[in-house]
Amino acid sequence: MTLRREFNVPIYTAKQQKIAKEINSIVKNNDSEISISNWKNWKWQINHTIRDINTFEKLLDIKFTHKKRKILELTMAKFPLSITPYFLSLINKEDYENDPIFKQSFPSSSELKVNKYDMKDPLAEDQDCPIPGLTHRYPDRVLLHVSNVCAMYCRHCTRKRKVGDIDSIPGKKEISKCIKYIRNTPIIRDVLLSGGDPLMLSDEYVDWILFELRKIPHVEVIRIGTRTPVVLPYRITNDLVQIIKKYHPIWLNTHFNHPREITSSSKEALRKIADAGIPMGNQSVLLADVNDCPRIMKRLVHRLVQNRVRPYYLYQCDLTEGLSHFRTPVGKGSEILESLIGHTSGFCVPTYVIDAPGGGGKIPVMPTYLISWSTNKVVLRNYEGIITTYKEPDSYNPIFCERNCQDCKLQLKLEEAEESKAIGIGKLLNDFDKEISLVPNDNERINRRDN
Ligand SMILES: *Cc1c(COP(=O)(O)O)cnc(C)c1O
Ligand code: SF4
Repeated sequence: MTLRREFNVPIYTAKQQKIAKEINSIVKNNDSEISISNWKNWKWQINHTIRDINTFEKLLDIKFTHKKRKILELTMAKFPLSITPYFLSLINKEDYENDPIFKQSFPSSSELKVNKYDMKDPLAEDQDCPIPGLTHRYPDRVLLHVSNVCAMYCRHCTRKRKVGDIDSIPGKKEISKCIKYIRNTPIIRDVLLSGGDPLMLSDEYVDWILFELRKIPHVEVIRIGTRTPVVLPYRITNDLVQIIKKYHPIWLNTHFNHPREITSSSKEALRKIADAGIPMGNQSVLLADVNDCPRIMKRLVHRLVQNRVRPYYLYQCDLTEGLSHFRTPVGKGSEILESLIGHTSGFCVPTYVIDAPGGGGKIPVMPTYLISWSTNKVVLRNYEGIITTYKEPDSYNPIFCERNCQDCKLQLKLEEAEESKAIGIGKLLNDFDKEISLVPNDNERINRRDN
């Protein structure tokens, strides 16, 4: 058997080495040695995040015209530039203008365009906020914004209005207020840590938040939404996964948009997360000129499941201001799903959703498979275009539910079935069951006794 684990792959290419050296000379940090261990140290990556055009130009051997720079600077004043050396190292210099990593991370003058239907807060998250930093939209789950910073600022970010605003990183006091709301609201069974990126916080801070949430008995699951496996895979350290796994069940959602983002380093991060028993999902955003292609998306979902990540959502790009150049028609998403459903494993297919402007939540959109129906038959078409019928039952006694559950023939015993009952010889051997013998049902002698 061959192990396909990639333990010993050198996760430091010549290109990365060169970038690391150049960064060092730019920050005139010549004494500190540049090594693989520096490159793979997430704090080094964050301390050397590229935030200005000059450095970007030098690292990629690009020279923007004076006019272009002016526009880029205007764009950055609205939403900062920030890209980790690791993520930048994935850009293909030869064709950077069409590079999906470049497009997601580098400002574009199109961001300055604000269309008629654009909105600052299209999902009305700020309106469904009982406490600053907490969005309570759906009945049983909340979004807890624990960080306003990210390792890389995605140009397509929904939360541009907030993210990048380092002056408003919530402190323990603010988060405690949100946690108190959760504690006092027993209907909440699922808490999503979001931001910004929750894993930009220190290990100790993550530990504290998870510890506080885990103390609340009605919080059944906790989810972490993070892009670090994509843009800063070295953040996923052994220490971090050890902390997270103390608080199971924890789920983690990440944000891969293009197959090129799945590298040796990110695979290693995903392996650590999966090995810690943390189930993973992926949320992609459908982006024009980045991943709006059935072939790209199919490759992406295949790579994800190979790395034990389940494609969860494919988002239609929302109506946030300045994102018009990223938006596709809804039909593009439908076309992508059409190319996946039936053509590949069911668990590779994400749910395509439109997050309702104004705050209605995520609405799933699917190609149409049910093409007609009558009172006893439905007509369907499959992924190949075969048209078929399903005959519905001739008789079906509908249950008229008056919420009289006591008298309903359906079993409403929702607690878990008992598994620990001893049966067979085990019944005789254990000490907790009083039974001393096993007698067949039709034993004549015992039957006589009963009479
Ligand atoms: C997406 C979202 C959730 C989680 O939704 P799921 O469909 O359960 O993943 C919760 N709250 C808000 C405000 C959201 O936008
Ligand atoms: S990681 Fe998420 S929150 Fe951060 S910039 Fe990207 S899309 Fe926005």
